[in-house]
Amino acid sequence: MPYKAVNPFNGKTIHEFADATDTEVDQALEKAERFYRAAKKQPLSERAEQLEKLAHEFATHNEKYARLLTTNMGKLISQSRSEVKKNVEFAMYYVKNGARALQPIQYNNVPGKEAHVEFSSIGTIMSVEPWNFPYTQIMRVFAPNFIIGNPVILKHASIVPECAQAFEDACKIAGISEGAFKNLFVNYDQVDRIIADSRVQGVALTGSENAGRKIASAAGKNLKKSTMELGGTDVFIVLNDADLEKAVEGAAAARLNNSGQVCTAAKRYIVQSGIYADFLAGIIDEFSKRKLGDPLDERTTLGPLSSKRAQQNLHKQVSKILAGGAQILWGDPELPQGPGALFNPLIISGITPDNPMYDTELFGPVAQVYKADTESDILKIANNSNYGLGGAVYSKDTAHAKEIASQIETGQVAINQPLSSYPELPFGGVKNSGYGRELSDMGIREFVNAKTVLN
Ligand code: NAP
Repeated sequence: MPYKAVNPFNGKTIHEFADATDTEVDQALEKAERFYRAAKKQPLSERAEQLEKLAHEFATHNEKYARLLTTNMGKLISQSRSEVKKNVEFAMYYVKNGARALQPIQYNNVPGKEAHVEFSSIGTIMSVEPWNFPYTQIMRVFAPNFIIGNPVILKHASIVPECAQAFEDACKIAGISEGAFKNLFVNYDQVDRIIADSRVQGVALTGSENAGRKIASAAGKNLKKSTMELGGTDVFIVLNDADLEKAVEGAAAARLNNSGQVCTAAKRYIVQSGIYADFLAGIIDEFSKRKLGDPLDERTTLGPLSSKRAQQNLHKQVSKILAGGAQILWGDPELPQGPGALFNPLIISGITPDNPMYDTELFGPVAQVYKADTESDILKIANNSNYGLGGAVYSKDTAHAKEIASQIETGQVAINQPLSSYPELPFGGVKNSGYGRELSDMGIREFVNAKTVLN
């Protein structure tokens, strides 16, 4: 795929970038290695200062960076501003907490011995990222690795090249040490070659299950540690005793934020029978209030999908689900006319496990609704998935909601709120949603040498 920015609202090409040459790849690896060696002798506080300057650059030019998100992948401009803000928060978390998270751990539990585990850098990290949160996906990997002294080479999604370039430019403006971060417009073969290079010691992918299988295989073949942040079919559980208004509001936001293109979006509503009719009426009302249109227009409340390709793909998936026996409860399945990637929101029910599209991740504003009588039915539906990323449970009885949360087979569950990411909290999944954790103190310890020193 060429690295080309195309405005998904109007289909107009904005900028096409030249592919990286093999020489550029070699130079990036060389510079990264030099940074890695130099950072071993540099106080961590110097890198924290540089990272703070990077955060400051994004904070002071929020609008400039936000507009690129909106024009490259169609995010509502208000949500783009929020992403830039979150990017700052992710960076600042590691500015403030990186050193603490890397403190050695004492182990005085071997009789007659003293030991500690110290954490140090391991080498270059190859980061492969998706288009749905173009800046924060990079920052999740870059900020912790920069603090510890691991350089990062980025292969971003080919549809958001201006965002990838802007991140690199921001690093230069902030005075981030040379070699610590490099964006490369590389193809898949070049990614494989970078992963195989002995200077590269870690691979971080956020993307689809399919990409995960390929990149994890390349990492495994070369014995490189990897983290896989992949897709999901997250559940949004509404129990009979839920606060209806709160549940409806949360469910709509959790499905429609970023035009439904969020890994932890509420892809399956599982609603208990006693509240089902009221929840459905509420959610239809919420969905019908959304105004589909230009994401740069402040009045728009539902932007386009990220590309024409994404629009066509989702349209095909919906047709297959319907052919498999599901029904549309609300919405117009016809694609809006025009060169853009607009997609009407839909609510679908009647998806049974024998539907060929059951357990397929729908990356767009398409909600699936399941009705269940008992909690054991709810959990059966929730866990009948090969994915295990996130979920949400709504009930006025918080203690009970927590019990349900403990039985959901995912890496994270939110109670009475849509699931979101926080720099302080680990983020990641189980099953085909991948492995490893980003953010928090766990995220900074993914690509380290945890060295045991015994005396
Ligand atoms: P994607 O098609 O898997 O692409 C992700 C990245 O991988 C892109 O940079 C893509 O490059 C690259 N890629 C794909 N196949 C590759 C290969 N064989 N070798 C090297 N690079 C390869 O996913 P997407 O459509 O951009 O993103 C949506 C997916 O990401 C969804 O499944 C979503 O749930 C998941 N996601 C997960 C999380 C999480 O934290 N768990 C967060 C956000 C998104 P090209 O663009 O050049 O193809």
